[in-house]
Order: sequence, then structure tokens, then C-alpha cells
Amino acid sequence: MTGSKRRSTALLLCQDQHQNPSSIRTGKNVKLLKKLNKKSDGDHKKPNNPRKPRTALSLLIDSNVVLPMAKVYYQNKAGVSLKKGRITRDGILCDCCLNSFGLTAFETHAGSTNHRPAAFIMLDDGSGRSLSDCHKQVDGSSTNFKKVSKVQINGQYNSSCGSESPDHVCSVCGDGEELIVCQQCPAAFHLKCVGLKQVPKGLWFCPSCCCGICGNGVEGCCATCRQCDRKFHSICLKMKTKSSEYWKNCQVNWFCSQSCENIFSGLENLSGNPIPISVDLSWTLLRSNNGDSDHDDKKKLSAALDVMHECFETSKDFYTGRDVAKDVIFGRESKLKRVDFKGFYTVILEEKGDVATVATVRVHDGKVAELPLAATRFSHRRRGMCRMLVDELEKQLRELRVERLVLPAVPSALETWTKLGFSKMTDEDKSSLLLNYTLLHFQGTIMCQKLLKTTHSPC
Ligand SMILES: [Zn+2]
Ligand SMILES: [Zn+2]
Ligand SMILES: [Zn+2]
Ligand SMILES: [Zn+2]
Ligand SMILES: [Zn+2]
Repeated sequence: MTGSKRRSTALLLCQDQHQNPSSIRTGKNVKLLKKLNKKSDGDHKKPNNPRKPRTALSLLIDSNVVLPMAKVYYQNKAGVSLKKGRITRDGILCDCCLNSFGLTAFETHAGSTNHRPAAFIMLDDGSGRSLSDCHKQVDGSSTNFKKVSKVQINGQYNSSCGSESPDHVCSVCGDGEELIVCQQCPAAFHLKCVGLKQVPKGLWFCPSCCCGICGNGVEGCCATCRQCDRKFHSICLKMKTKSSEYWKNCQVNWFCSQSCENIFSGLENLSGNPIPISVDLSWTLLRSNNGDSDHDDKKKLSAALDVMHECFETSKDFYTGRDVAKDVIFGRESKLKRVDFKGFYTVILEEKGDVATVATVRVHDGKVAELPLAATRFSHRRRGMCRMLVDELEKQLRELRVERLVLPAVPSALETWTKLGFSKMTDEDKSSLLLNYTLLHFQGTIMCQKLLKTTHSPC
């Protein structure tokens, strides 16, 4: 072992946590949200009035997106057709009773209470398009569907708000104040943090809720990559692949690329199998999941959490009081991407069966993996355990052809990470990364990255 390897690579947040337990806070202030434009909110939910000169449907017909008398059906969440009908300018002409219904009324007539008629009324032309998809094709004149949400923050944040309420801090920088809220999910952002100069006039979707092909917002049923979590319009996928074999609605195990599929299966194959490093040392990758992991895995994950708790005085989220380390290790899921820890793996280095070092890793796609928490037990420090674990992990990430590994380093651990080959990201790099990827990061930490050269194995 080289001299440098003998140096302490025991990390990181712990020292700072003892001095300043608040540094893990993911925001600065506790404040309350208030939705501003209630009016546009209300308008949006009102059923479409078929006597209005321009209805949602007449707009689609006038824009040549659908043909008059085109067949449609209302499908439930399982994709089963509940009612069939035809599109007219005045509404949907029901096959069963020949009455004309507005979209909301047709949804009710179909016996559904989803309150998302456009997302569940599908064109019966084999295209897999919903009326929502059709709306996307209509140009900027589709004022009927426009809605801007904006939250103003003041007073006390009401902690009883469920995960469906708009977020109270910016998903990019973690601060509060004036935020714009996504049309589709609870994520909120500063205008400047998403590169906007003013509140957009139309519907606004956050980067995570935009189609990976056309960049427009995605509503309702869509294709979501199991690995990178990117969303795609089914119509865009169909046009891209130019074949009849395109993605079908609500398919669970779908991947947007070969790279995403390889990463997913590569990690699954690694998961749960201890890999020996030496006679006494081995490391294991475990999927962070409380639901279906077996008893031994759960015991190891609990031991990993104990190490985190030993090293970090507190890892509680300032707003929710939730234990972030626990949520990451047990893969807590949320509709709010900032606190959705789906996809995390816990990496455990064991010496003679004792957990020595633990880290949490999430591979987003072929470009980015993150390593937000790493800790070595006090009793195992100053022996290069962390370096060993990071080295092993990097080897695997290279095999999976992941381009870079990023992590939030507390200032006092920066030198340690620099020795492991990480370097401070520029502000520009960091903001473009945080705009495109939802990464776990903490106030007061420095975003670092390491570029991983992929090994091109001959095959
Ligand atoms: Zn009917
Ligand atoms: Zn921000
Ligand atoms: Zn969103
Ligand atoms: Zn699209
Ligand atoms: Zn993907």
C-alpha cells in the first residue's frame, strides 16, 4: 500500500456536522406558500362548455390535429377502455347513448373520477395518443389550456401539506422566496435557476416533466425510462423510431436507450452479491429499498444506517424533520423529485463481517452518477477504507460506461476528495448539472466531480 493510501480518507460531513449541525439543511427559511393565480386554476378545472364558440375539441379539429368524428375511448389507469365515442366540435358523441359530452362530463359518464379527462381520453387510431398529447401539438394559440402557477412565499410553512402541495424551496438551489411551480409535479424553481427571465405565458413544465425528445411538457400517461426517469411523449417515440413497434402506454420496464438498459441490469446483477477485495475485506452493493429486500439485506442496510448516524450528528431535513440518510438508504419515494430517493444503492465495505465504510450511490444515466453520503466508522478510520470502497465502485461504474461521478463535499473534506481525483465544479457546470439532474446536495457543500474514463473491453 502506498503512503498516500495510508492517509485518512475517512470522511467528510461528520466533522462539520458536529460543529454546525445546520449545514445539512436543504433550505434557509421556513415559510408558507400561497398560490397566486387562483383564477386560472379555477378556470382550468371547470368543465368545458360545449356551447362556447371554441372548445378544446374544436381547437384540435381547427388545428388539423384530429379529424372530425375521429374515434376515441376513455381508458382507466389500467388501460382498459370504459366508453367509446367520436370527436365533434361540440363534444364527444358517445357510442352508447349518442349524447354529446364535454371532456369532464364524458369522463364522469365513463364512470371515472380521475379528473384528468384529456390524459385518459385516447384516440382510437392505434397511435396511443391521448387528447393531452394532441394539445401539445397545437401551437401557441391554444390559450384554453394555458395555466401558470406561481407561489409567493411568506408566513409559516404548513407542515401538514402533503407531498402533492407545491414545494417551498427551489429544486436547483434549495432557497425559498418567489418560485414558479411545475404544471405536472410539485417541484418549484426560481426563474433564474431554470434560465427564465419572466414567468412564461403558457403552461410551464419543469425539466423533469419535459419530453426527452421534443422538450415540451408531458402530461398524464407517458413513457418513463426505468433507469434515468426521463419522460417521453408516445407520439414523439413513434415518430423517432418510425416503426409500428413503439412504446405502449403504461409499460413498466421500459428503457429510453441501450445505455440505460445496460446500467439498470448491470446494477441489478451486482446487487446483493459480496465482492471480495482481500481475505478480510469485501464490498456489497445493495438496492436501497425497504419493500422487497430479503432479511439479510435489510439487516445490512440497518447496519449501514447505524454507521451514518455514528458519523453524522444529524441528517434531518430542516423542513420535514425527516432523516435524509434513512430515506436514502431505504429508498423513500416521493412525487417531489428533490426528495425522491428511488434508484439509490447503498455500498457497504465489510471487514471480517463488520460494516466499516458505507456510501450511497445513484446512477442517473450514462453521463452522471452521484455519491452524496459516505461515512467510515470511527474504529475503522485512517486505514484507507473509503478510498478502497470508492475505487471499487468507480471500477464498476466504468464497466457500466458511466462518464462522471459527482458528490457534495463539505469544505473540510475537499482535500480528501481532491486526493481521490475529484475536483471542484465551476458554477456554470454545477448549475447546468442541477438543471438536468435532480441530485441530493446540501447547503454549504461544494459540488465536486471526477471524470471516469470508460474501459473499452474488446467484445
Ligand atoms: Zn353513453
Ligand atoms: Zn433557485
Ligand atoms: Zn415537474
Ligand atoms: Zn415529445
Ligand atoms: Zn433512460
